[in-house]
Amino acid sequence: MLKGKTALVTGSTSGIGLGIAKALAQQGANIVMNGFGDVEAPKAEIAALGVQVAYHGADMSKPAEIEAMMQFAAQQFGGVDILVNNAGIQHVARIENFPAERWDAIIAINLSSAFHATRLALPAMQAANGGKGWGRIINVASVHGLVGSAEKSAYVAAKHGIVGLTKVTALENATSGVTCNAICPGWVLTPLVQKQVDAKAAALHMSNEEATKLLLGEKEPSMQFTTPEELGALAVFLCSEAANNVRGVAWNMDGGWAAQ
Ligand code: NAD
Repeated sequence: MLKGKTALVTGSTSGIGLGIAKALAQQGANIVMNGFGDVEAPKAEIAALGVQVAYHGADMSKPAEIEAMMQFAAQQFGGVDILVNNAGIQHVARIENFPAERWDAIIAINLSSAFHATRLALPAMQAANGGKGWGRIINVASVHGLVGSAEKSAYVAAKHGIVGLTKVTALENATSGVTCNAICPGWVLTPLVQKQVDAKAAALHMSNEEATKLLLGEKEPSMQFTTPEELGALAVFLCSEAANNVRGVAWNMDGGWAAQ
């Protein structure tokens, strides 16, 4: 379905971003990967799906590096048809104890980076398809883009912000073939969440299994993690023709978290 298209997925060396990159590659899209840590293993996993893969190590908190990454994508594949703004970090603390430097980093990586990548991707998407436009911008927000939780001020502010950015991006392009939507996962067992399980287990002197149950039980009625594969399938749907008129939604996949 996506053969000949190029998808740039930020933060795709791990977790949800890697799951989405693999799902788009399974549909034939070439992938521009980004993120830190081990690059070779996830790159090989994507290449094994029979598509071309390139990697750029831009730090998403730095606008100049985001510009370099977008130029790199244009040089490698002629442009970006699908932009998935996924890179993100977390820090957990009450507001009065929240380090100002962590606030700035979360707003930069989880929110401002999406603005920069979007503003740089839009002109080519708007010009595509003989000027009628074609493009897909998918912002990986969170259920925390819809509801709050204590001790996550920067994260919840950034994720509510990205849901707002999603709506405005969708509206400004509503008469073109460029759509923008947000995906709002509940708990997904990635390194970002494993750190929170570990912190709970240590603080409450309990096993990993007990801490996991407690974490799910506090928020997620299904008592199940959403998987990167399920989120990848949702991203594929948003890239499909069937989703041509899905614009500005924030679609939660959260085991009933926000339904309460
Ligand atoms: P993860 O830690 O597994 O992956 C995060 C990715 O972002 C990694 O590839 C990492 O290298 C990259 N990254 C971090 N800082 C970066 C920077 N400055 N520049 C470039 N890349 C950077 O986490 P994840 O759980 O897969 O999270 C991915 C996204 O999903 C985040 O936006 C997160 O907020 C969101 N999310 C996660 C969950 C969850 O339960 N795990 C739930 C809702 C939303």
